[in-house]
Amino acid sequence: MVFKRVDQIAASKTMEFTARVKNMIRNGVDVIDFSVGEPDFQTPDFIKKAGKKAIDENHTKYTAVNGIVELRKAIARKLEIENNVSYTEEQICVGTGAKQPLFNAVFTVCDEGSEVIIPTPSWVSYEEMVKLAGGIPVFVPCNDKNGFGLDISEIEKVITERTRAIIINSPNNPTGAVYGEKELRKLGELAIKHDFYIISDEVYEKLVFEGKFCSVASLSPQIKEHCILINGLSKSYAMTGWRIGYAAAAEKVINAMKKIQSHTTSASNSITQYAALAAYEEDPDKVKYMVDSYRDRRNYILHRISEMNFVQASKASGTFYVFLNIEKLLGRTYRGETIISSMQLAQLLLIHAHIAVIAGEAFHASNYVRICYAVSQEDIANGMNRLDKFLKEVI
Ligand code: PMP
Ligand code: GLU
Repeated sequence: MVFKRVDQIAASKTMEFTARVKNMIRNGVDVIDFSVGEPDFQTPDFIKKAGKKAIDENHTKYTAVNGIVELRKAIARKLEIENNVSYTEEQICVGTGAKQPLFNAVFTVCDEGSEVIIPTPSWVSYEEMVKLAGGIPVFVPCNDKNGFGLDISEIEKVITERTRAIIINSPNNPTGAVYGEKELRKLGELAIKHDFYIISDEVYEKLVFEGKFCSVASLSPQIKEHCILINGLSKSYAMTGWRIGYAAAAEKVINAMKKIQSHTTSASNSITQYAALAAYEEDPDKVKYMVDSYRDRRNYILHRISEMNFVQASKASGTFYVFLNIEKLLGRTYRGETIISSMQLAQLLLIHAHIAVIAGEAFHASNYVRICYAVSQEDIANGMNRLDKFLKEVI
């Protein structure tokens, strides 16, 4: 039997590669893991306590499909204060991680044959979500020389009658780029003019080291009408395993997403919702230590890479990723083997240098590899030594 829809997608390359690396580590191989994008911090104690309290207080039943009202109100408050954008609690739908609200959003806007624009390099799941929903992904490359910013004129060129949405991600996984207000405003104007949605994935919103994060929905009421804002607590509060995220949008869109959710997960985990409530009721400065630490690590890693042969790092103003341009390595040899692609380079680095990175092919950017530096300072230093040693052997 053929599973037509599923057969055309690939499993998550980040999740798959990471599982392989974790397996090697379990078998005693000393690998430094720069692969999966997951904070190395533990969930803060005050959040864990709220989770335990939720169990003791028997918050262990189904919740409303869109989440408990206290959490939706806290999210609305957070969006107003931190992101300068107003939503009511009825315009918010809590979901399982940011991944599920993203999927709900894509599923909502896509009919069979709808086109969804995806600027590349792009996170692994957008393309597959669009395909699963019966849509057609339309890729528009962002230029390295432009700091991987949005190329508005190129985006405009691919808009057709079937364009339903664009998925943007700022701060960006994998490039680390943070989009400025000017380019987002231009995109917003395009969305109004051609009547499509901006699905704005803002999960790395708090991880910004230079410049300022701008939520596209905050730019004007008309732009907001064309936005589906997606955020979550996995990255900003080190809560990847709790699986909590949300969408905010016009009620019509949120109600459609709620309908999908009512038939898939019913609602997000009840205990997690109370833990997330505690997170959003606290002063956001309470978790600033994480961003400060990522900034130090980012600075160190960029400095180390600037002294290495053949590679060049993206500016990486946000997230915890550095996107490494490896173009100058292609065609050169390492221990007699010619390097022909980033995929093969990632294999060589894993086998010979014992460092795990994600090949750029996973993100539609073949001349790059992604390094996630959400690992200890000691591991970063060791990993950089190993990379440097590897590159010194390349001829
Ligand atoms: N968007 C981007 C860009 C991501 O990198 C990830 C990876 N975690 C997600 C969404 C999904 O995050 P979550 O763990 O909240 O589902
Ligand atoms: N988003 C993270 C990454 O890109 C976690 C894995 C995933 O969900 O893709 O590595």
